[in-house]
Amino acid sequence: MGKFPCRMCSITRNCLDSPNNVLISKLTNGNTIRLICDQNPTSLKGMGYYPCHNNVLYNLKYCDPSGLNISLPPDILHAILLGYFTRLINGFVRLKQISNENLFVFSDSFMDEVERDLHSVGRALAQQSDPDLPKTHFPSIGYLPNPKKNEDNGSRKKNAHELRGVLLTLLCFLLLNGKQKALEKRIGEDRLAEFVKIMELTLVMEQWLNKEEFTEEELKVFDRFVPYFIFTFTETVRRTDGMGMKLIKIHLLHHFSTMIRLFGRAKNFDTFVPEKITSQK
Ligand SMILES: [Zn+2]
Repeated sequence: MGKFPCRMCSITRNCLDSPNNVLISKLTNGNTIRLICDQNPTSLKGMGYYPCHNNVLYNLKYCDPSGLNISLPPDILHAILLGYFTRLINGFVRLKQISNENLFVFSDSFMDEVERDLHSVGRALAQQSDPDLPKTHFPSIGYLPNPKKNEDNGSRKKNAHELRGVLLTLLCFLLLNGKQKALEKRIGEDRLAEFVKIMELTLVMEQWLNKEEFTEEELKVFDRFVPYFIFTFTETVRRTDGMGMKLIKIHLLHHFSTMIRLFGRAKNFDTFVPEKITSQK
């Protein structure tokens, strides 16, 4: 693994969860990479590239002078839905009880009770007439993942885009009747409120990123929002397994506004449609 896991900036692995804004690197265009490849192939390997002298991609012309790396933008499907949504849902399900850090809040029997409530909320939401509402009814596979300790990033056989409906149902469940007293007792009022806040922010952000048009003013607000969001998200979810929150999917949010400025709406470079076509073949 290279020292610099992001192809768009020179962030190091240890800082992938940093909320601070990161400048796009000017060191990653094709010509510069070819130069480094000629002069110091070892350092190129340290940047996460395989030194390859005759790489045809170095000679291609790109719309942006930063070249190949900036032409491969992060996308909503992988960075947001499979990054933030799965970590948030799994982080919530894996919360430990405040009175006993060894016990999960969602024991098997409590999980069954919550699943029944989620089922009712999801079914009620599915009966709304709003055509933009995501799928919220999952009668056969349920809502909450129940992963083993070393597999905390699964989504319980759901497609990435279905995670929108799962998170929305979870948020409504918490805001409606959601076993309020039992949850407050096990999780603590403050922490529960933190989760409600970050669930709402995550849903709103993903919806916002799917907009058809963006103004420069909106993107400037988003640039100010991203550090706040990453800080709040990592502080709330507090993942400790594996690399914790030091994940490239968490970091890539920093680069969305630059990519929208370059390529237009985020839907233009989302990979949902091409992946769907590939999986159907
Ligand atoms: Zn980066």
